[in-house]
Amino acid sequence: MKTTADLVGQDLHGKRVLVRSDLNVPLDDAKNITDDGRLRASVPTIKALTAAGAAVIVVAHLGRPKGSPDEKYSLKPVVTRFSELLGQDVKFAEDTVGDSAKAVVAGLQDGEIALLENLRFNAGETSKDDAERGAFADQLAALADFFVSDGFGVVHRKQASVYDVATRLPHFAGGLVGAEVEVLKRLTEEPQRPYAVVLGGAKVADKLAVIANLMKTADRLIIGGGMAYTFLKAQGYEVGTSLLDPEKVETCAAYLKEAEAQGVEIVLPVDTVISPEFSDQVETKIVPSTEIPSDWMGLDIGPKTRELFAAKIVESKTVFWNGPMGAFEMAPYSGGTKAIGQALVDATASGALTVVGGGDSAAAVRQLGFTDDQFGHISTGGGASLEYLEGKTLPGIEILDN
Ligand code: AMP
Repeated sequence: MKTTADLVGQDLHGKRVLVRSDLNVPLDDAKNITDDGRLRASVPTIKALTAAGAAVIVVAHLGRPKGSPDEKYSLKPVVTRFSELLGQDVKFAEDTVGDSAKAVVAGLQDGEIALLENLRFNAGETSKDDAERGAFADQLAALADFFVSDGFGVVHRKQASVYDVATRLPHFAGGLVGAEVEVLKRLTEEPQRPYAVVLGGAKVADKLAVIANLMKTADRLIIGGGMAYTFLKAQGYEVGTSLLDPEKVETCAAYLKEAEAQGVEIVLPVDTVISPEFSDQVETKIVPSTEIPSDWMGLDIGPKTRELFAAKIVESKTVFWNGPMGAFEMAPYSGGTKAIGQALVDATASGALTVVGGGDSAAAVRQLGFTDDQFGHISTGGGASLEYLEGKTLPGIEILDN
């Protein structure tokens, strides 16, 4: 796989480089960026290219527009912050491959940067039809001499700007994609043991495939958040009105058995913070996870669980974490996620490789007051890192190898 390091080794004056970045940042109602982690992570590759003399055309998506322009998902609100972080003005094109993009690209001087409007305003970007995607990729490729893939958050997608464009231009892995793959390799190829994986979040169904594959490599799976209740149910306990995926109870039961057979430790919550409603305005109680009343719901792991999970994390040499331990957006239910964040910080300090996987988990740790440098690595791609750990081939990585 060729990387930006190979590309910047040559004189790029007079050359245009198309960079696929992941700028899919969360915005509030007033269009303020609430976490700029993905913008910051995208800067080094772009700067390396402009320093070598290239004119850089950045393409990215924001949210999930339906294949046509939708002001709600415009990338325009990121331009100011992106320019600040890059230390130079970013020119913005009001479309992706139309007249505005062509004019902006034509006017681009060596060392300048343009950002094109949301890729997903074009149906070809995410189309399942190879020809439709290919036609859009042709238009993107026509804008540049080289392609750099740096949007790690999308490399598991077979999309025009991720996959097809790489078949049309000399292609390189950006620094971010290279660094992410390096870390994920360390998790899958001979990880330092004990290797603990901490999973949380709302949807157990999303994480079952990764759990199945991790049973082959991890020593312990620590499960919290909303997804833990389906496991508790599988152990025969009642979980009240907590999040539950009734269709997955049997699968969870099978995994619990299989883990035992394989000598993989599955660690589940022993106590839970419960409340009568999904709200931060009502009373809360702490009960053993086996004693959740029928009309109450579990919204965070309890204090004993925090201690138990933290001890398992701190005694591990490799830790991967994806998904919050509770409904952390509400203060009364943020303690569990904060405690796990702190345990990873402590593990990092004692020499473990700690990886926070996923945009949402990364945003959660920052929101709770942690900084990126307290962890070994904060991945910019939740879906991509989980699919990698599932053992799947990521189309956007595979195509860079050709
Ligand atoms: P996911 O997208 O599956 O990683 O889920 C993230 C979401 O799960 C966050 O918005 C949390 O608020 C939510 N969550 C985590 N634990 C719980 C819980 N016990 N009950 C309800 N929601 C939860």
